[in-house]
Order: sequence, then structure tokens, then C-alpha cells
Amino acid sequence: MSYVRGLKCRECGREYPKEPLHVCEFCFGPLEVVYNYEEIKRNISKEKIAERQKNMWRYKELLPLEKDSGIGIDIGFTPLIRAHNLAQALGVSELYLKNDAANYPTLSFKDRVVSVALSKAKEFGFDTVACASTGNLANSVAAIAAASSLRSFVFIPYDLEQGKVLGTMIYGTNLVGIKGSYDEVNRLCSEIAGKYGWAFVNINLRPYYAEGSKTFGYEIAEQLGWKVPKHIVVPMAGGSLITKVWKAFKELEKLGFVSEVDTKVYGAQATGCAPIVTAVKKKSELITPVKPSTIAKSLAIGNPADGFYAMGVIRESGGWAEDVSDEEIILAMKLLAETEGIFTETAGGVTLGVTKKLLDQGVIPRDESIVVSITGNGLKTQEVVIDRVGKPIVIEAKLSQFDALYKEKGGKKSINHEE
Ligand SMILES: *Cc1c(COP(=O)(O)O)cnc(C)c1O
Repeated sequence: MSYVRGLKCRECGREYPKEPLHVCEFCFGPLEVVYNYEEIKRNISKEKIAERQKNMWRYKELLPLEKDSGIGIDIGFTPLIRAHNLAQALGVSELYLKNDAANYPTLSFKDRVVSVALSKAKEFGFDTVACASTGNLANSVAAIAAASSLRSFVFIPYDLEQGKVLGTMIYGTNLVGIKGSYDEVNRLCSEIAGKYGWAFVNINLRPYYAEGSKTFGYEIAEQLGWKVPKHIVVPMAGGSLITKVWKAFKELEKLGFVSEVDTKVYGAQATGCAPIVTAVKKKSELITPVKPSTIAKSLAIGNPADGFYAMGVIRESGGWAEDVSDEEIILAMKLLAETEGIFTETAGGVTLGVTKKLLDQGVIPRDESIVVSITGNGLKTQEVVIDRVGKPIVIEAKLSQFDALYKEKGGKKSINHEE
């Protein structure tokens, strides 16, 4: 039993039944899951949620499944960290990191969306699941499909980081590298979905899949003591997560779990792939697709499916958007690791780099609560920092050798760095 009324076109409002549909037959607008909030309000409370296991299914009434899933039961409820050291480095008073680099099982926020999508695929009776991915989705679909005894096909741009490729192959999935960008992978996958009738999590199951991202927002509010932050910075690839964080906050407001949502939402992209940011900065209604060229491969979507709606959330909330260079991404990854002990992937570098830039510009004030979204793990994108962290110093197992080393370099912040 769910509280889902059905699907609804985000453009023309036409309603559809709960089926594996994703575009409106009449206007080609994207479909979205709609709920009966009056019923939900009668059936959940903060107290009821507090009694449940610490995972994303504690908000199950707000997710589009008909029965308890059994797939990915340990996903979510990642730490929300009060980042004192980083706050000091940035000169801000109240800073939090929502850390999905620690998500289970594949160390990115994508486990949230995939567990909902694969549960839904099972409900619909599919035996094969698939995805078009920039990397993290590939890892997550392969892992969770393996654990759920579903056959999986994963399609990626052929030149992804080794950690993302290995972290997909290991689960025994069917991995296909496409000679082209993510946007070309995605186009091909739409054709394959039509022809083979598989459950593509981010194509024909996209309305259900995307709802999983809302749990990132619910958790932040609950972990802040059922409060929303004044500012939140969110990385954007296809632009889905940012719209769902906003939807989550608005739903909690509707249910009376938080008071008025006055959060400003900021979108973050890499300069080498910033179609949404560019449109926001130009105050344009149109998003011009780009050809990505950045180390932030997980965010490298040149023609973002939800870009228009992401822009809408940024404007409606009174937020803004910024982009950062590859060099700024690396510096931000290092800053996060050195201040808070968190190794994020390039996407986290984008988010933190953009946060720093917006603070420096005075767009985000320094004396209000800020949440920075860390969505993926640095062990998957080692290539970009391997030459930027120094090298271990190798000595014989003799005290005299260590004494000599310490005498020479022990006064520095790190014995491995020249600076
Ligand atoms: C996919 C992804 C995002 C953003 O996803 P959307 O397509 O905008 O929902 C952010 N961070 C990481 C690490 C990702 O893998």
C-alpha cells in the first residue's frame, strides 16, 4: 500500500496511472510521482519516524513503493557533520556537511535512487535492469542488482575513471563502454530501452528513481532537529537531486514537520560542463547544451534532463549558481580532506569549491547555517589527485634513518610536501 496517487506531467498536468512511464504522451513533458499528502499526514509523525531504523526507508510513506522493499535496507541516514575546522577555514559560523561519500553500499548518493528504482522494477515484474551512467549510477546499479538477483546492463562513456569502471565490473554486471559523451550514451539507451523492454532506472523508471533523492533532504532536516538550513549547496549533473532536495523540504513543510522553508538553494557545476549555471547567470529561460570537458566526470552531463526544473528551484528559493575550474575542484578536495578528514570525489570538490566562491562573492552570508552536499567518495577518482598529495618517503627499518628524516623535515606541516 502506498500513498501514491499516480504520475503527473510537470508541464501540462495530465495524470497517468502508476506504470513504468516517464514522458507525457501529449506534450512530451516529464512525469512526476504525486502523493496524497492528507493521508500521509494522518499516518506518519516525527515520533513514528524516530522509532524506526536509521536508514532511508524511515520515510517510506513519502516514497513510491507499494510494499516494503527488502532491497538496500541499509541505505541512507549518512552523517550530517558539524564542520568546525572547515567553518574556521572558510570564516563561517555554522557549517554542515551531508556526507554521502559514506553511503552504503557504493559510497555515493546514487544508492538512494537505485534502491527505489530497483524495488519498483521488481514490483513491475522486470527481470533486467539497466542504466546510462556517468559512473556512480553504474556502481550502484551493478551492486544492488547483484544483491537483488536481477540481471543488469550498464552503459557508460568508455573513458571513465578506473575506480568507477572496476567498481562496476566487480559485481559481474554487463558493462558497455560507449565511444561518446554521456549525452550520446543516454540517447542510445533510450533506443535500447524501447527495443529491449528493460527497466532503465534513469529513463523509463526515472519518475520513481528520482524520488529516492528526496531522502537526502529529509535526513538533513531531521538531523538538524527538524529544521531546514538557511543555505544549501547541491552539485548538479542532470539536475535531479537539487529539485528533489527542494521537493523534500516543501513536503516536510506541508506535513508540518518543519516551519516555513526559507532555504536558499545553490547549484554547483564544473566550469567545463556548466549548462545550468550558465543559464542561471544569464537569467535565460533556455539551457544551451555543452560538450563536457572536466575532471568532474560524474557531473559531466552536457544536456541535463532536469536542468530547466533545477533552474526553477534555484530561482524560486532565491538561491544562485556558480561553477569552478578543475584546479579549484582539486584544491577544494584537498581542503575538505585536510580540515575534516573526508575524502570526496571530484563532485564534492565542485560543491565545496562553489561554496567557497559564493562566500567570497558575498552571495552566501557567513553568519547563517549552510549545508554542503558531499555526494561521492574520493577513492573512485584517485587519478585527479594522485600527483597532488606528495609521495611517501621510504626508509630502511632503522631508527637512525627515521631520526635523520625527522631532523631534516620534522618541523614542516607534512614531511611529504615541499611547501
Ligand atoms: C549523479 C551525481 C550527482 C548529481 O546528480 P543529478 O543528475 O543532478 O541528480 C551529484 N553527485 C554525484 C557524485 C553524482 O554521482
